[in-house]
Amino acid sequence: MSENKKRALIVVDVQNDFCPGGSLAVEHGDEVVPPLNKLIKEFLDRGEPVFKTRDWHPAKTRHFAAYGGTWPVHCVQGTHGAEFHPDLLDDPRINIISKGTNESADGYSGFDGTNLSQLLSEEGVTEVWVAGLATDYCVKHTVLDARREGFAVKALADAMRAVNLNPDDGTRAIEEMRTAGAEIVGNTKKAAGAGE
Ligand SMILES: [Zn+2]
Repeated sequence: MSENKKRALIVVDVQNDFCPGGSLAVEHGDEVVPPLNKLIKEFLDRGEPVFKTRDWHPAKTRHFAAYGGTWPVHCVQGTHGAEFHPDLLDDPRINIISKGTNESADGYSGFDGTNLSQLLSEEGVTEVWVAGLATDYCVKHTVLDARREGFAVKALADAMRAVNLNPDDGTRAIEEMRTAGAEIVGNTKKAAGAGE
């Protein structure tokens, strides 16, 4: 490994509403928590930056079906559903990135309307490791934007799960990430399907 390669971990949207019991639950979504906790600890122990993104919507947004969008109401700012999964490691060194705050945009990507790219550049980061929820939406868009911004990307399949509105969405998302130049690491079956 080159001396000047600096890594960061981006944990995407591991929030109550995306986990079993939530308003937009991803099947087996909570299974990403243990592998992510291990990664968060390893990155922090090495002094490498960790970012958690969170969907942080206004109550009224075109993202929601009630206002012309696709999704049931989820992750409204300040609600229980918008909180991180209670078992996800917390640490004062973790940077929180709020996204989806614009009422006229979906804001799937952690880079969309946030200062994430700037923060990564300021830290001298050249490679990002990305995982979380969900494979076929916010993880995918975060990975694609990271590639567009010039970062090397490892997409961590063991620590992501898919929504699969259409049954193949997860599989297709993995292929899109790979085509964009991301290295896919781990069990892609779990990442693409909602479960076994
Ligand atoms: Zn959302």
